[in-house]
Amino acid sequence: MKFKVDVAIVGGGPAGSSTALTAAKLGLNVLLIDRKAHIGVPVQCGEAIGKTGPSIAEIDIPKEAIRNPIRGFRVYSPSNIKVDYAKPEPDGYIVDRRVFDKELFIKAAEAGAETLINTEIKELVFKDGKVSGLIGVNDNGKVEVESKIIIGADGVFSIIAKMAGLRKYAKLADLDASVGYEMCNVEYDDQELMEFYMGKNVAPRGYVWIFPKGEKRANVGIGVGAQDGARTALDYMKSFMKDHPIGREKLKNAKIIEYRVGAIPLGGPNEKNILDNLMLVGDAAGQVHPITGGGIGYSLVCGSIAGKVAAEAIEAGDTSERMLSNYESRWRGKYGEEFSKMLKLRVLLEKAEDKTLDQLAEILNGQNIVDLTAGRKISILFSAVKKRNKDLLNLLNGFRQLKLIQ
Ligand SMILES: Cc1cc2nc3c(=O)[nH]c(=O)nc-3n(C[C@H](O)[C@H](O)[C@H](O)COP(=O)(O)OP(=O)(O)OC[C@H]3O[C@@H](n4cnc5c(N)ncnc54)[C@H](O)[C@@H]3O)c2cc1C
Repeated sequence: MKFKVDVAIVGGGPAGSSTALTAAKLGLNVLLIDRKAHIGVPVQCGEAIGKTGPSIAEIDIPKEAIRNPIRGFRVYSPSNIKVDYAKPEPDGYIVDRRVFDKELFIKAAEAGAETLINTEIKELVFKDGKVSGLIGVNDNGKVEVESKIIIGADGVFSIIAKMAGLRKYAKLADLDASVGYEMCNVEYDDQELMEFYMGKNVAPRGYVWIFPKGEKRANVGIGVGAQDGARTALDYMKSFMKDHPIGREKLKNAKIIEYRVGAIPLGGPNEKNILDNLMLVGDAAGQVHPITGGGIGYSLVCGSIAGKVAAEAIEAGDTSERMLSNYESRWRGKYGEEFSKMLKLRVLLEKAEDKTLDQLAEILNGQNIVDLTAGRKISILFSAVKKRNKDLLNLLNGFRQLKLIQ
């Protein structure tokens, strides 16, 4: 099979489909390729999404994908001090990624993108030192694609990023290993609150999550630093279910109905996500929140920016790196500072002892946590903490150096 297109997109997840949808709507000749036979399957996700990302990307969350509206969260510190945040109205959802990803893929196709599923891309083709196409394989044999612009939206282990020489993920320390389940008979606290459990013995560098889906069903999962050698994410998950004083109560009657594993790129974005004729989007670009591990919203927004820049480039007849730097500057203008602050904050939090996190939980309210994980300043913290211990003060001094607090 041979194709000649304006834009060839490798990966039909949120990043690739958002790029394809935007580019196709703007009249480009788009080819959207995925190796999966069933888009969205298997699910490797907690399936939580806020309303903001889709709204900025001008993408409606498919109604069929919505499983449960969410108003906020409850964080449990290592000693199970609770910090709540709840809005009066839902500001996000737990979705079904099987439906979410597939509907988005269909929307891109309906907008005019050509689609190729069950097709694995194996090679990035270079001509005169510049990216010019792709080689892949499917049931019909060899697939050859010639394209003015290639988009690498092929996820955390992106081969496009690797072959383009732009990939940074290689360090294990930049990845979180994650396992999780969809479960029934879960006794969650509140159907509209996501629950997070912290602590070095619970989930080093990460957290356990319980995301309610209604009718006592929930996604229950864990992410931990991938380099944490002694115990695996699965070991920690099992001990949360068996030994954690709250976890074991909530999950004592729970049954596993689906098993999920995955890796999350928490090391921040690649230094560079463009070359002549090439852009990287989504997990392939490292566009994931370095603390929460959330990436769906960023993928949608950055995909829509990539789609628009592709249209401008094709229109101008200039797909050079200089032209595509508009993509880099626009998405970094939106999220670059947030990612870089959150990366530094994550490193600080990683070093904090459980007792320090407990003390933080005593003085933080939910809004503080929202502000903190969005990289906003929370000067209130400092005055509250002055009387507390040295570790906590050191941690907050770290926050101050990052200009998270004044
Ligand atoms: C366990 C876990 C829980 C998570 N929970 C959340 C959450 O609750 N909320 C949130 O916002 N984020 C969450 N994330 C992160 C989120 O899932 C990702 O950030 C998001 O899926 C990124 O979208 P993407 O399109 O970049 O990549 P992906 O969704 O990974 O899509 C990449 C696509 O590329 C295809 N592909 C890969 N290689 C090739 C190839 N060579 N040829 C053809 N196709 C290829 C794949 O088949 C896949 O369909 C979680 C991640 C994990 C692992």
